[in-house]
This record gives sequence, C-alpha cells and structure tokens, in this order.
Amino acid sequence: MVIENNKSLPLQHADALKNTLNSDELDSIIIEERNYQFIKRHKISTLFGVIASLNLAYFQFGSVNLYTLTVWCLLVLMVNVFIFFWCSSNLIKVENNEKSAGIWQLIALQPISGLAYSSSIFLITDWNNPISEFLTLLMLNGIASTASILNIPVRNSCNYFNISIAFLPVCYLIYKHDITYLNLLIAIILLLVTLHILIGLSTTQYMFGLEQRVLSLTLSNELKKSCEKIKREANIDHLTSAYNRRHGFERIKKKLDESDIAHKLISMIMIDIDNFKQINDTYGHPAGDQVLKSFSKNILKLVRDGDIFMRFGGEEFLLVLPETEPEGAIIFSERLRMVIENMAVNIDTLNEPTTIKITCCFGVTQISSTQSFQEALLKADKALYNAKNNGKNCVEVFL
Ligand code: GH3
Ligand code: MG
Ligand code: MG
Repeated sequence: MVIENNKSLPLQHADALKNTLNSDELDSIIIEERNYQFIKRHKISTLFGVIASLNLAYFQFGSVNLYTLTVWCLLVLMVNVFIFFWCSSNLIKVENNEKSAGIWQLIALQPISGLAYSSSIFLITDWNNPISEFLTLLMLNGIASTASILNIPVRNSCNYFNISIAFLPVCYLIYKHDITYLNLLIAIILLLVTLHILIGLSTTQYMFGLEQRVLSLTLSNELKKSCEKIKREANIDHLTSAYNRRHGFERIKKKLDESDIAHKLISMIMIDIDNFKQINDTYGHPAGDQVLKSFSKNILKLVRDGDIFMRFGGEEFLLVLPETEPEGAIIFSERLRMVIENMAVNIDTLNEPTTIKITCCFGVTQISSTQSFQEALLKADKALYNAKNNGKNCVEVFL
C-alpha cells in the first residue's frame, strides 16, 4: 500500500473502488507513475542546484581565491551530473520494485550531494565577510527548500539530502563554540524539522492525488471498455455475430441518408438457408445453431468493411452492399452461394461425429431513389421467393 492515512482525506470510497480493480496492478502503475514524476522533478532540481552553485561561485568571486572556487564548483557539478544521468536512467527502468538500483543509488548519492553543497561553508565562505557568509547560508537554505519541494514524491532521499546539507554547517557551528552561532544552529535545526514535516505531509497529499488520478483514469478506461461491450452486445446478434435487425436497419437508414442514391448504387441481397427446419428436425436445435454460426462466419469473412450484414430473422439474413450495381451483387451472391455449398459443418455434440452441408437462396435487388426501403425489401423477398421456386440453391434478381 503506497498511501497511508488517506481515510481522513476526501474520496473515502477510494479503497472500495480500488478493490473492484486489480489492486497489485494499480499499485505498480502508481509507483511507476510516481517514479516518472519524480525523475521529471528531480531533473529540474538538479539543474537548479547547478545554477545555484554557479551563482554562489560568482558572488564569492573576489572574496575567495579562484582555485578553491573552481575546485568547489567541479565537486558540486560532478555529483549533480552523476545523479542526473546515472540515477535517473536507472530509475526509469523501475517498474514495480520500489527499492530498485536507481533508488539505492539515489539514497546514497543524495547525502553526498548535500555534503558537496555544504562543503561551501569551509571552502568558499569568507567568514570575515558578512555578505559572503550570508550568501552561503542563503544558498544552502534555498537549495534545501527547493529540493524539498521538487523531490516530494520520494520523501526519504530528500530527507537525507537536507540533513547532510545542514550537517557540515552544524558541525562547524558546534566546533566554533561561539554563543553567537547558537541562534544559527537552532535556526538550521528548526528549518530541518519544518522541512521534514512539510515533506511528509506533501508527499502523502501528492501520492494520494496521484493514486486518485491513476484510479480515475483506470476507472474511466474500464467504463469505456464496458460501454463498448454493452454497445456491441446491444447491436450484434450473439449467435451469428451479424448485426441484429434493429441495428442493421439503423445502419441501412444511415447509409441511405448519407448516400445520394440517385448517383450511388446500393444493392440488397436477402439470403435464406434452404430446408433449415429439416436440419433442426434431423440433428436437433443445437446443431442447427452451430450451422447458423458457421454460415455467418463464412459470409462475414467475405463482406467488405462498409457492407451491412444483418440477421433478418431465424435463418434469414439481409446483406446491403453500398456502391454496388445489381450485376456486381449477382456475382457476389454467386460466390457466396458456392462458398456455402462447399462449407462443411462438423458437429461433435451428437452421438457420432456428423458433417452437415447446407445450401442457400439469394434474392438480389437494388435500392433506388424512386422507391422506399420497404419496397426494396419486398422486391428482395420476391427474388428470394423465385429462387425457392426455382429449385433452391440459386441466385435470383428482381429489380
Ligand atoms: P426453405 O428452404 O423454404 O427456406 O425451408 P426452411 O425449412 O429453411 O424454412 P422454414 O421457414 O420452414 O424454417 C425455418 C426454420 O429455422 C424454423 C426455425 O425453427 C428455424 N430457426 C429459426 N431460428 C433459429 C435458430 O436461431 N436456431 C435454430 N437452430 N433454428 C432456428
Ligand atoms: Mg429457409
Ligand atoms: Mg426462412
């Protein structure tokens, strides 16, 4: 569990929501996201540290010797560059293991970085010059506070940094035994305690916000998936995977509305399986269902993306082919007829393995601008009727 204490914060249902999702997966996404955010912030903080140290070197220039200044700058820059490239690149590889190599490197390097900054207290502070002294302490406080804000997602490494940044000044002040430095010592300790409390609170808040964001994104994804599933189930016939009648009609209506049918030809084919009742009677209803499934699967393999294939009812289907002339629809129907004729449906639910073969009739017509869709349906039905009367397993057209 990444977040402690979130009961007192708003959204008390977070845990209940989380339980409905895969909690391990969520935790790992949260940690990954936290590390990603941390690296982003940490890079900014490293850059700030470099600028701050160069700035200080610039201000101390003149009161401190150039050689010492250069050595100090190189020391700080080296640690920063190390943290920037080495730890960050290792942190990026982190997936769900919180204590990865990158984290350990960071935990080790943060105190070194703090010590590198605080070494300025010996190396580049001119203690006889109040301005130089003031600038050094100001910079150390500034760096500690900025590091606190920017490193919030990873509380511990930030604490190590802040403790070590104050470590040398504190030692120095104790070593001095001068009562005038006591105030400074107390101020530094107070600053550290305050920063520690603030970082703790901010980290909890930050992680809570992060968890909520991940949670709400995950939930909205789940919701989207569920909506798509519901939509699919509402529009598609579950047995044959063809559009159901309601959705099929909706699609056809939409297609008719958007096409200028005076210029674009739309063909329609009504398909009916021959002697299907006999199949049910001979092999049983479940075998009939399996035949319907295979029939539809084969047709769906051959139709184009824009074609509308729907279950009209029982073993009767309707296929609407936009931008297709009746001649094309006849050729296509003939191809489908042959595919279905050659299709063998293996039934394994019966006592002995059985293969069922079927044939179909096809009634082809054209949807024209001068007729209503209902009229086109009657024509397709008429063509189908003719096909049945002509001995079945054939294609007939009625325009
Ligand atoms: P024809 O060649 O003239 O079309 O004869 P047919 O037997 O195919 O036609 P009929 O309309 O007499 O029978 C259709 C059968 O389809 C009757 C019905 O029980 C069956 N049927 C309808 N829907 C389903 C279904 O979802 N599953 C199964 N197994 N059978 C179905
Ligand atoms: Mg039939
Ligand atoms: Mg029928």
